[in-house]
Amino acid sequence: MRPQVIIIGRPNVGKSTLFNRLVGKKLALVDDQPGVTRDRRFGDASLLGLEFTIVDTAGWEDEDPSSLPGRMRMQTEASLEGADVALFVIDARAGLTPLDEEIGRYLRGHDIPVILLANKAEGRAGDHGLFEAFSLGFGEPVGVSAEHGEGMGDLFEALLPHI
Ligand code: GDP
Ligand code: MG
Repeated sequence: MRPQVIIIGRPNVGKSTLFNRLVGKKLALVDDQPGVTRDRRFGDASLLGLEFTIVDTAGWEDEDPSSLPGRMRMQTEASLEGADVALFVIDARAGLTPLDEEIGRYLRGHDIPVILLANKAEGRAGDHGLFEAFSLGFGEPVGVSAEHGEGMGDLFEALLPHI
């Protein structure tokens, strides 16, 4: 069976854009409006020769970030069960939000390796968020740009030990 990699993060950080880049097709819906991806999506991903199944999730989409969207959360929970490693995506340009911190706490409660991705890190605009992301406690964030395809070699190196 192909190793499974799950993408997790709050709405609008670029999860579906990353999914599309790794799958190489416009499978997941990308939109400027948060909350467009409603379901889990599975795709056959390929990254510099590394083959794996990628899962795009929507477990944290909610109008009110302080409430716990139980049904969606259950889907993320179910996805985590089958996954070998999680890609925890934050928006390097926006910096950390309380929901990022909540997702970080959630992931720490699970026995799954986590790779922290600071997305939208093209150019210097993401430097601040990249630095801030250290405080989530998942080690050095990997700076990427899902939209522009930057940092994919670093993502490959981060994934390699886990799949
Ligand atoms: P999701 O809600 O986490 O799935 O986020 P989406 O993939 O739908 O992306 C949300 C928005 O962020 C869209 O407008 C994307 O074009 C934009 N976006 C995604 N990746 C990047 C990136 O690497 N850099 C920049 N500047 N914008 C990005
Ligand atoms: Mg999405």
